[in-house]
Amino acid sequence: MIPQDHPRYRSLMTRERLAAAAREGVLAMEGLTAHGRGEAFDYLIGERTTESAALAERTAAALILSARHPVISVNGNTAVLVAEEIAALQEATGALVEVNLFHRTEERIRLIEDLLTRAGVDVFSGQAERLLPLSHDRAWCRREGMFSADVILVPLEDGDRCEALTKMNKTVIAIDLNPLSRTARAASLTIVDEITRAVPGITRASQELDPNECERLIARLDNHYLLAEAIREMTTRLAACSGSRSTGPAP
Ligand code: ATP
Ligand code: MG
Repeated sequence: MIPQDHPRYRSLMTRERLAAAAREGVLAMEGLTAHGRGEAFDYLIGERTTESAALAERTAAALILSARHPVISVNGNTAVLVAEEIAALQEATGALVEVNLFHRTEERIRLIEDLLTRAGVDVFSGQAERLLPLSHDRAWCRREGMFSADVILVPLEDGDRCEALTKMNKTVIAIDLNPLSRTARAASLTIVDEITRAVPGITRASQELDPNECERLIARLDNHYLLAEAIREMTTRLAACSGSRSTGPAP
């Protein structure tokens, strides 16, 4: 039992949720270590949505709203952490939601689709085919879903698939707390923010934007700038912390 006044209550509860999902087979064990890497970067960014991440979330909303065929790709961690928030984003944008897993089994696909459906998501399911140019199981998707998407939101993606999707001329929006990952570097737009903050951020922006602002945000999209800003936020915080220690005890 985690006491509610524990300073890291939220983070510990999230870990409990993920661990329970791993025991139930919804989450692959590897998903737990991926979350740990995310937590470390969230610490560095101050566990808050930075100004550049908020701009990235607005730009993501603009891209999704302006798309012909937007798709949200959901993996185990995403389903466990933000199933209801994905339902709200789908409602706000009309995007299609499709499950795509690295550690793919028919059983896990079914468990995750059920979890999403219970949360109110209209899941695009049906016969998947090996359509993406990848040697691992993230190659599986549906012809009318991800395969034909023009804009695709890929929270917590691996670099390989992100690169493959970009090569297929899709606009790829990644949510990844690690601004150095191959995913973050290969995506058309990277949101360096924790997924439980990022998805509601995109939904809020989708409800606010008008077509003119969408156009303006898309025209100004500069992912190098967004990644550089995320790294600057992290290094500034690190420098501030090491500076305060070296000043020694207060007089
Ligand atoms: P690549 O360099 O190929 O992109 P990777 O090692 O980053 O590989 P994974 O381990 O699959 O690939 O990546 C998971 C990514 O998701 C990590 O970069 C991690 O920082 C990020 N991540 C994990 N949990 C969260 C979360 N809750 N919110 C946002 N990002 C997260
Ligand atoms: Mg990655």
